[in-house]
Amino acid sequence: MTVVTRFAPSPTGFLHIGGARTALFNWLYARHHGGKYLLRIEDTDRARSTQDAIEAILDGLNWLGLMPDGDVVFQSKNADRHAAVAKELLAEGKAYLCYCSQEELAAMREKAKAEGRPMRYDGTWRDRDPSEAPAGVDPVVRLKMPQTGETTIADEVQGDVTIGNAQLDDMILLRSDGTPTYMLSVVVDDHDMGVTHVIRGDDHLTNAFRQYQLFVACGWDVPTFAHIPLIHGPDGAKLSKRHGALGVDAYRDMGYLPEAINNYLLRLGWAHGDEEIISQDQAVEWFDLPAVGKSAARFDFAKLENL
Ligand code: GLU
Repeated sequence: MTVVTRFAPSPTGFLHIGGARTALFNWLYARHHGGKYLLRIEDTDRARSTQDAIEAILDGLNWLGLMPDGDVVFQSKNADRHAAVAKELLAEGKAYLCYCSQEELAAMREKAKAEGRPMRYDGTWRDRDPSEAPAGVDPVVRLKMPQTGETTIADEVQGDVTIGNAQLDDMILLRSDGTPTYMLSVVVDDHDMGVTHVIRGDDHLTNAFRQYQLFVACGWDVPTFAHIPLIHGPDGAKLSKRHGALGVDAYRDMGYLPEAINNYLLRLGWAHGDEEIISQDQAVEWFDLPAVGKSAARFDFAKLENL
């Protein structure tokens, strides 16, 4: 099997230090296994995606030497394909049309709040006959999630992570205006791009269970997941501006060499013995996922300055 990884940033700002590390790990994993590393710009949120951000991400990756093997994929261009997959699932009875009104959904939300649990769609339209559909309501398409049993992700960094399927509600695949949701787009694109390993921040771990079930419903191989702990500041708090600049471009403008930044990012959460400086060839030779730490790496601006 040829390993295929991808970096999939949403173009809403500069290339973040955390994003650059995700790109680096994907690049290294692909190089280590003689595979391919791809780039997908997740620009489906038209309101938040900007051309400036796309350019900043490409510039940053280019500077770090982390440009993809192959053309850049723009997710928004695949919207028709995403919708077609949802319609196939509908035709196969693996998805259904849901005509719930905003009021009905609000009532479900209230009930969940009163019971102190997260909102879950209650499956009202799962078994209802579409002939009962109210007039003038555009339906959403929902996936029929398994209602019993468990979903286990054998994560390369986190180990086995399990959720009870009762917690996975029937997620929306197509909105009432026919546009695909993020969940659907990611799964279809990962399949179509032949991605074998999804290496990304652990803020996406909870999405992985739903994505897993969508891969299964489509009859596709589920990629291997590896969720890397997010980067924190030296004080252990979530990385924010007060810890130093968060954009890779700022470090370029300060005169750092890309090799120094890559070396620093590599060692944020991954180590090879006591080695402080690791050449690119050594990194490619040594990089693996199980050695990535499970707890949040700490970004220390002072250490970077000593490089
Ligand atoms: N676009 C997502 C982000 O920037 C990443 C999605 C993924 O890697 O699956 O956080």
